[in-house]
Amino acid sequence: TEPAPEAAVPQTGAPGLILLSRIGTVDPASLDDYRAHGGYIALRRAFALGPAAVIREVTDAGLVGRGGAAFPTGRKWQATAAQPDHPHYLVCNADESEPGTFKDRVLMEGDPYALIEAMTIAAYATGAHRGYLYLRGEYPRALARLTHAVEQSRTRGLLGDDVLGQGYAFDIEIRRGAGAYICGEETALFNSIEGHRGEPRSKPPFPVEKGLFGKPTVENNVETLVNVLPILTMGAEAYAAIGTPTSTGPKLFCVSGSVARPGVYELPFGATLGELLTLAGVRDNLRAVLLGGAAGGFVRPDELGIPLTFEGTREAGTTLGSGVVMAFDDTVPLPRLLLRIAEFFRDESCGQCVPCRVGTVRQQEALHRIVDRTGAAAADDIALLREVGRAMRDASICGLGQTAWNAVESAIDRLGAYQ
Ligand code: NAD
Ligand code: SF4
Repeated sequence: TEPAPEAAVPQTGAPGLILLSRIGTVDPASLDDYRAHGGYIALRRAFALGPAAVIREVTDAGLVGRGGAAFPTGRKWQATAAQPDHPHYLVCNADESEPGTFKDRVLMEGDPYALIEAMTIAAYATGAHRGYLYLRGEYPRALARLTHAVEQSRTRGLLGDDVLGQGYAFDIEIRRGAGAYICGEETALFNSIEGHRGEPRSKPPFPVEKGLFGKPTVENNVETLVNVLPILTMGAEAYAAIGTPTSTGPKLFCVSGSVARPGVYELPFGATLGELLTLAGVRDNLRAVLLGGAAGGFVRPDELGIPLTFEGTREAGTTLGSGVVMAFDDTVPLPRLLLRIAEFFRDESCGQCVPCRVGTVRQQEALHRIVDRTGAAAADDIALLREVGRAMRDASICGLGQTAWNAVESAIDRLGAYQ
């Protein structure tokens, strides 16, 4: 199949960009061009510092995971590095599948060597010599560019037995997903790499202790890893000065829907939702904004002052998730949109646990009945949705089932859907 057109990066070439600084300006096929644009300075600094000091820098920088859960990266790295069991593995989660999320795709297609450099630093810090890059199956352009970049890096001594002549061995294997949303859940992803069904495992034990092949594993999202480069080049203190005290650094946002300039935007944490939407050219007849994707929640047009930080969105009773910002104007039929979200979760549930397997079907059926009644909900439909939603949230094994009711609940409670 033909790859989709490259995602828009409306800020290309703008001053002050950190994560997107090379996107659209560096040749993604050229290692030399990557080096000419600051590539491999961070890895050299990592080797000069040593593993423990690299983890300290990442911890002091306040970096938290950008996949959506915001877990402190330094804590994850430290916990993996400290495990006596060997080998340790590094897994880059590039199975970007949250509806409305396309930031990792932009990084991988536009700056593939950055991810390879960042993975090498993460592996060095945590004592891993093998890394897996688990790539979303529907990203053929990213696959081609990353495959080329891995091969070039091997040829030029930046992967292999003696990285940069420092006596450290590290190599990367790219694995391609086959289209299942659930394989982005870290333990389902491990099962997929191991050749099993992509079903989540119960946690704990967490991957830092028992992950891929039962061994200590550090698993990070693409954007999380790429943030390690500026942390090492500018230093933890300068990095931590960007954003807010508890959401540090730059953040990528995926803006889509009813806006004039959809695409990936980079802003420091702390900018408001309204500021981001103004950059993207939001329309006057805005009806709702979905934050965090299908697993996230809706907010109203009068809530655009919400600061785009993990703590700010939490305090506002919503979530930043992986940085999805989907705008909907008043021409979008909300009941149909909610049904579409419910169909997505019904289709993508792995079926392993009852609350999610059955709950996602019951939720979709109720929303279907509502659409059939041209958007009007009977009181018992809403009561059923709430009951099923609670059961999924409380009793599902993994995040898919636990969040499958978030968007519908927020639409009922915040937007007054179906009234
Ligand atoms: P989680 O909170 O369970 O875990 C986050 C990370 O922290 C995991 O790597 C986990 O192993 C680690 N962790 C948690 N507690 C730990 C501990 N005590 N010790 C060591 N490590 C620990 O969240 P999750 O289920 O991995 O992810 C959920 C998030 O994924 C949601 O926020 C959702 O928005 C996001 N998501 C993103 C995408 C995407 O395409 N980017 C797709 C689906 C979901
Ligand atoms: Fe599978 Fe859903 Fe259970 Fe997760 S919550 S393990 S996706 S059935």
